[in-house]
Amino acid sequence: MEKKSLYERACQVMPPVATGRATKLEIVKGRGAYLWDTNGKKYLDFASGVGVVNMGHNHPYVMEKAQQQMENLVHAGHNVVFYPSYVELAERLSAALDHEYKVYFSNSGAEAVEGALKLAKWTTGRPGIISFKRSFHGRTAGAMTVTASSSAYRREYEALMPSVYYAEYPYCFRSGLSEEEETKRCIRSIKEIFQYLIAPEKVAAMIMEPQQGEGGYIVPPEAFVKQVRQICTEHGIKLIFDEIQSGFGRTGELFAWQHFHVKPDIMCVAKGIANGFPLSAVIGKNELMDQWTAGAHGGTFGGNPIACAAGIAVLDLLQGGLLEQVKETGKYFKQKLVDLSAKFPVIKDVRGMGLMIGLECGTEDGKPDSRTVSRLRERALKKGLILLSCGVDHNVIRFIPPLIITREEVDRAVSILEESLAECLASKV
Ligand code: PLP
Repeated sequence: MEKKSLYERACQVMPPVATGRATKLEIVKGRGAYLWDTNGKKYLDFASGVGVVNMGHNHPYVMEKAQQQMENLVHAGHNVVFYPSYVELAERLSAALDHEYKVYFSNSGAEAVEGALKLAKWTTGRPGIISFKRSFHGRTAGAMTVTASSSAYRREYEALMPSVYYAEYPYCFRSGLSEEEETKRCIRSIKEIFQYLIAPEKVAAMIMEPQQGEGGYIVPPEAFVKQVRQICTEHGIKLIFDEIQSGFGRTGELFAWQHFHVKPDIMCVAKGIANGFPLSAVIGKNELMDQWTAGAHGGTFGGNPIACAAGIAVLDLLQGGLLEQVKETGKYFKQKLVDLSAKFPVIKDVRGMGLMIGLECGTEDGKPDSRTVSRLRERALKKGLILLSCGVDHNVIRFIPPLIITREEVDRAVSILEESLAECLASKV
């Protein structure tokens, strides 16, 4: 009898919602920027488990710290006791943020988003939330409500959390406007929400990604982010930055908001925080966190000892010079992609900060070209390069490699990309 693939076995015991994935690869080992499948085939991983293994797969230093912790304690419950890695990681994060913020640990990105929304409501006593079009914040009820990148995520789940409104997020490439005009347009949309829908004094929080992820790897103009900050301060609205994908060195700063020279009141972090061990956090200004009293929020698994030990190791590495490397490799990679766009007119835009880079494809008549993106991903995968897409029209390749990648690995990825593009454009299938 023929051996069934993992995909086939999964389909027998799991719903389609768990099996419709980016690839059907069967992976048994990961090291650095590489994954190996059951046949020993090696893949260059430019997905990083969707922006999680920022230090590379099984980074030896992270593994050593996690293993040491595993020998001593796996779980005792942050509701029951205190343990060193839990407190030390919070101390390290607070110190990295000039001791202006305190930390509450949870497990997933969506859980951190829920926590951030609750904290904003708890401290303001207000009901309203403003989110941005094309944003992605997660799959739980509150996080899904503030998500506005696809109606597919909410189909059959309406009605959702009440009093959520959606403003425009800048997308200069699509609108065709200058940064200044696009900023004006989007700020106007916030003011219109105040005028037509909800008074600003009823709004608890605005939640935004400092670089949109799922929505298309879009970087907003600095003036826009600054004006959003100003509006929030003026009206006592808490500004939440969702740093779940853009945080922990991904953009060349510890957090992406540091590029814009504004500070959030609250941020949500997850993904890269512990290099693959499940961990997330709500990080809030001291004066807000001090109001969040015992019982106002909670959970069983938050701040797992092993995940926290891995998180400390991640911070050691990031603060040991890796951020500079991310900026340099990111710049090098982006330039290579810009060079490629000169050869392939299907590439319409290359954008992003650090190693969070998007490449938008379009047809000759300027329409989003999702077909080329999906064919490109398939061909690249056959050649050993794992790529993901993003964008509301699925026409953007998102490059989100481990932050430790070398220039040689970037060169390899770009040459696979070039070959794959040439093949896609030469053939109809
Ligand atoms: N926020 C952003 C910006 C994300 O990219 C994601 C996941 O992709 C989430 C929130 C949700 O995180 P999780 O899947 O861990 O719940």
